[in-house]
Amino acid sequence: MRGKPWAVPLRAVLLAVVGAAALAAFVSADGRSEKPAPWPTTCVGLNDAIEMSQGNHRNVGIYQREFGDQAEQACRNEHRGDLSALGSLVADADAAASDGQDADAMAADGQDADEQQGMQSPPAAMTKLTDGVYQYIGFGYVSLVVISGGEVLITDPSFDLRAQALKEAIAELTDAPVSTIVLTHEHYDHAGGTSVFADASVICHVNCQPIFDLFTSPTGDVPEVDQTFQDLLRIDVGGIDVELHHLGPGDGEATTIIYLPEEQIVVTSDLYEPRGLTGGAFVDDKNFTGVRHILNTISQWPLKHAVNAHSLGTDPIDLYENVEYYNDLYDAVYEELAAAVAQSGPFGAFMLQGTLSQTLKLPKYQDWSNYDTAFPRHVDRMLLSIFHGD
Ligand SMILES: [Zn+2]
Repeated sequence: MRGKPWAVPLRAVLLAVVGAAALAAFVSADGRSEKPAPWPTTCVGLNDAIEMSQGNHRNVGIYQREFGDQAEQACRNEHRGDLSALGSLVADADAAASDGQDADAMAADGQDADEQQGMQSPPAAMTKLTDGVYQYIGFGYVSLVVISGGEVLITDPSFDLRAQALKEAIAELTDAPVSTIVLTHEHYDHAGGTSVFADASVICHVNCQPIFDLFTSPTGDVPEVDQTFQDLLRIDVGGIDVELHHLGPGDGEATTIIYLPEEQIVVTSDLYEPRGLTGGAFVDDKNFTGVRHILNTISQWPLKHAVNAHSLGTDPIDLYENVEYYNDLYDAVYEELAAAVAQSGPFGAFMLQGTLSQTLKLPKYQDWSNYDTAFPRHVDRMLLSIFHGD
């Protein structure tokens, strides 16, 4: 398999790697994007996963055996086209399933439907939001890209393979190197890949480093952080004002909200999903009263675009609907908690754990994706957040 294209169409590669269930979760039936399952983050890792899924067990590790230290580079050279197309594939799938606005923007690049379907020519994954400001989607993650006056700021390279694809996409817009990387928070799946941009200064909230110091994961890397901030940092990117706000814990402890006041663009990461509930293990590290506070705060800012780390659409309506959801959830849980405490004292809170989630419902949100499976967990998590503070 070495040296040959992984598969045509590339959708089959994606399926082989992340599995049919993961793709189904990523682009759900109602066209809403969801957090993708973890998947290999290097070319060699992808190749091994594909060979394994096709039963070619002897080919697993072939690059490592033949090229040793140069395995990753050799794989990238031979699969350059595959990687580029694969990086754009998620964007294509998401755009096709979205409500049309962004798909139209992509189609405006001159690709006809056949090309998009067959993936001979990968669709652009870079979408222009306004002059000098873009969002790049690839491998299931969204990055803000700000290009102005010979400077380039990006968010969340995520991991090497994606960072390389992002670098190539930026090179089509400017010769300037990436000068600044802002990490939206400390989670490793967002924070990797910075070394691909050798000249860039990496900025992360001051709470990032203690988490990075614990890094032991085999999935990627964590960056050398060049600059930290506490509550607010203002950056001038060639005349475009970029504000970094820390409004308390959200998803993790180093949650950073990026805001462009002139352009009225906000960027958040892992705080909400369009008409969907975050499920699974990802709920555990979210401070639900913190997320509620952040979403209420930023929804008061003038907004034209709300860029979200795992979905293509930027309509602020998704944010506003989630403000309502988090407020409704908080109110419903708080009411029950206050009644239990009035009756049983502080220990009433403990008695609600694991029981309130069986009875409390918010039918208003029953059509949101993951409601049936994730809502009880949200109730438990909000309860803990209210009476325990985290
Ligand atoms: Zn996260």
